[in-house]
Formats: sequence, structure tokens, C-alpha cells
Amino acid sequence: TESLLQKSEKLAVVGQLAAGIAHEIRNPLTSIKGFIQLVHAEIDQPDHKEFLKIVLIELERINAIVGEFLVLAKPNAVKIKKTDVKPLLEDVVALINSQAIMDNVQINVAYQTPIPAIVCEENQLKQVFINILKNGIEAMPGGGFIRVEVEETKEGNVSFAFTDQGVGIPQDRIPTLGEPFYTTKEKGTGLGLMTCFKIIDHHKGKLHIKSEIGKGTTVRVLLPAAPVIQQKDEVKKVWSVKQEE
Ligand code: ADP
Ligand code: MG
Repeated sequence: TESLLQKSEKLAVVGQLAAGIAHEIRNPLTSIKGFIQLVHAEIDQPDHKEFLKIVLIELERINAIVGEFLVLAKPNAVKIKKTDVKPLLEDVVALINSQAIMDNVQINVAYQTPIPAIVCEENQLKQVFINILKNGIEAMPGGGFIRVEVEETKEGNVSFAFTDQGVGIPQDRIPTLGEPFYTTKEKGTGLGLMTCFKIIDHHKGKLHIKSEIGKGTTVRVLLPAAPVIQQKDEVKKVWSVKQEE
């Protein structure tokens, strides 16, 4: 297994990405340009619909790449605050569920213990969970289940384990995960997990991936629980008593 240092060296690669992105964007852009030139020159050709379809697919690819980076490119707009886990996960499932249902995938969330709040930038963390769930859905072309197990660990962290029943990942590929542009998908960006590692690192958390070919994959995110502020709890108690009267 890989040391933490190697992982953070990988994260440092993100800083050198500008050149890589430009390169990756240039390929679909060149393709778009070529087809648009063709359509322009032969506008009365019946094939032009097909060309336009390819243009749209390539545009979608650029959109996906840029979309992943927008999340990382907004560090100044982040609002880090104490956040309840349940409503956050409910939002995430609501956001991804239409795609899941279309692909015959059912997502179940189970809370194994009472879950303390976490300190996070909500939108970034949602992005992490959505990227993980998307990968799970994409790993099950015939559909299946994704189980999300949430618990407080005895060390006082909050653990989120996402387990799919998908194709799995070869052991020797696991250290590659999180490297920019590593993808096995025809329409993949290879940026989803890199984004996850980067965001979880920002949150002083950890991300582990365990997988078995033909059986499935578990992606586990560990985040520190928010420190308990005594005063606030006391206020809460009084508040709940008042509510009951
Ligand atoms: P992308 O999804 O665009 O390919 P990611 O960074 O999200 O990029 O994932 C990189 C690669 O890791 C995927 O192409 C796939 O090979 C592998 N992978 C990630 N999650 C899973 C999973 N749950 N099951 C199987 N393979 C996975
Ligand atoms: Mg992905």
C-alpha cells in the first residue's frame, strides 16, 4: 500500500495541472473545429446531423472536465461550517437518484450509530459523494445496489463507506486512482477521484479504496467529527425541553 506522503505528492500534481488541462481540452476542441468546418463547407450534406451530434458529445466532454475543475478552482468562495450529516446525504442522494434509477441502481443509506456533526464546505463534500456514487453507478452496467454506511468510529471520526456491486478495480490499479486523467471509461474525465482526494485532504480527512474484481468496490471517507461545544449543547437542551412543553 501507498504511503500518505506519496498520496500528498500526487495531490501536489494538481498544482501543475494547468498545462495538462490545456492539452486535454485541445483534443476535443480540435475535433469540434474540424467538424464545424466540415459542416460549414458542406451544409447541404445529409451527414451534417451526425457531425453535429459528435460536436455535442465533444462539447459535453469539455463541459465535464471544466466542471470538475470549477469545484477545485473556488477555494476563496468556500464556507466551512458545522454541518449535519443526514440532510447533507439526503441532498446528495436526491441529486444523483434520477441517474441511479435510470441505470437500475438503488442507493441505500444506513446510519450505524448516532452521527455527530462534521466541519465541512457543504458543496465540496457533496461533490465528493456524488463523484463516488457516480463511479459506483458506472461500475454496474446491469444495475445493482449501492450501500452507504455511516458511523462514528471509536476514534471520534465520521466514516462514510460507499459499497457497490460493480466490476471492481484490479489491485495494481488502486494506487493509480486519484491521478489526474486516469480513466478506463470511454467518456471518462479521470478527474472525479482526484477531486475527491483533494477535497478530503482539505478537510483533514482520509479516503481509502478497497476492491475485488467481479465483486465490487468500497470507497471509504473518514472525516473528523466537529468539536462539541458545551455551551451550545446546553442551549439545545433547554430549547428541546421548551419545545416539549
Ligand atoms: P472517471 O469516472 O471519469 O473515469 P474517476 O477519477 O472518477 O474518473 O475514476 C477513475 C477510474 O477509477 C475509473 O475510470 C474507473 O476505472 C476506476 N473506478 C473508480 N471508482 C470505481 C468503482 N466504484 N468501481 C470500479 N472502478 C472504479
Ligand atoms: Mg468518475
